[in-house]
Amino acid sequence: MDNLADDSISNKGVGLLPVIKDVLLQLLFALMPFVAYNIYYRKLTVNYSRNFIILICSLCMLLSMTFASSVQSGLIFDVRYVIMFFGILFGGFMTGAILLIEFLIYRLHIGGSGMIDAIIILIITFPLSVLLATLYHKSKHKFWIVFIAGISFSLIPLLVLYITKPDYILSHFIFNVLVMPVHNSLGIWLLVTLFNKSVSDKELYLQYIQNEKAEAVNHVAASLAHEVRNPLTTVLGFLQLIKSGTFPQEKTDRFLEISMEEIRRTEQILSEYLSISKPLVPFQQKLELTAQIRSVVELMTSYANMSNITLSADYPELPVYISGSPAELKQLLVNFIKNAIEASRDVDKGCVNIRIYEEAEQVAIEIQDNGIGMNPEQLSRLGSIYYSTKMSGTGLGLTFSYQAIRAMDGSVSVRSSPRSGTVFLITLPLAATDP
Ligand code: ADP
Ligand code: MG
Repeated sequence: MDNLADDSISNKGVGLLPVIKDVLLQLLFALMPFVAYNIYYRKLTVNYSRNFIILICSLCMLLSMTFASSVQSGLIFDVRYVIMFFGILFGGFMTGAILLIEFLIYRLHIGGSGMIDAIIILIITFPLSVLLATLYHKSKHKFWIVFIAGISFSLIPLLVLYITKPDYILSHFIFNVLVMPVHNSLGIWLLVTLFNKSVSDKELYLQYIQNEKAEAVNHVAASLAHEVRNPLTTVLGFLQLIKSGTFPQEKTDRFLEISMEEIRRTEQILSEYLSISKPLVPFQQKLELTAQIRSVVELMTSYANMSNITLSADYPELPVYISGSPAELKQLLVNFIKNAIEASRDVDKGCVNIRIYEEAEQVAIEIQDNGIGMNPEQLSRLGSIYYSTKMSGTGLGLTFSYQAIRAMDGSVSVRSSPRSGTVFLITLPLAATDP
């Protein structure tokens, strides 16, 4: 709050309703970062960035100062201290500095006699915000720090104004003493607690996604150990034969060739495994889809073999380019293929087939299995977080996959009926042809 101190304007005659309306409007501005976060980050598999905080706080500051409740007495009430504190808390010192500059420029532009008071108040509250934000990150008593921030940002402006404009404060005492704490204490408390809640929910969700990934990686690892043992046995056998020295050079060369081929294949599977076990990095780039699917199929073959399921894929002849994050794409393919294998475990001659074809600027990836299938009720719940029908399922595989597909501007559809199998159809937009 600060004083535009137009002495001719008085607070008398201002009804309670317009004041409440203004206060509510300011609280709404104070909640903007929370609302924007929930809308924008709801679908993403990343948490908020500093740029997001800078952008939303700047906008919020601008709006709250533009629509500040300037009651007849010429007072500007807004939630600048709330925004500033929040910005420093979640966006760091840099964000605070940017907001400070924005505030100063805009405040100088607005002008008025309250400008000096506003700057004095800010000289005190800005370092205090930095100090409280630092304490907040270190301390266990976060509630009390938010409480102290709210009280300080209510008392400091009142005190400064009391010193510089005692008459004004005294004549509108009740009004100031009521409105200031509501703006600042309630504003800060609401924004920080709600935002924190959303952020920690998101963190939990991201952690679950990583757990799900770890689980998929573990399952695949178990089958890999099996897969790697076979070529090793083969190679060992050939080496023993070569060592015995009883074979002609021609045969020995052939043994060496087979051994090398086996080792190359094993090496490739292992490096694929290492690439899916890395943490997910959701950056977008141009990708050749067929090669990505080929390597995931290669990797999942051991998992399919372990369950006696035939995993096959029909690849297009020409390369198919899409744009997306390779790590996320591989992970989502692993999820779909793993589900298809798990669904076909108990059927006779279980098979999972993957088909890729281009269709009107889009590429379709079809993952078909002849497994247990799903009924309409199960189908309607697909993709919901934690929905799983498996004993040791997490119900996060499809949630993650659906989100990752959406992030690539793609879509998924599914056809399934109990006991006859399931077809998942993933459609992704093709990338522009020039590299
Ligand atoms: P999880 O595999 O841990 O159970 P997912 O999110 O990967 O979690 O899958 C959620 C549920 O969707 C599975 O538990 C299963 O009931 C169903 N489901 C997914 N894919 C298939 C499929 N190909 N065939 C039958 N059911 C499937
Ligand atoms: Mg799964």
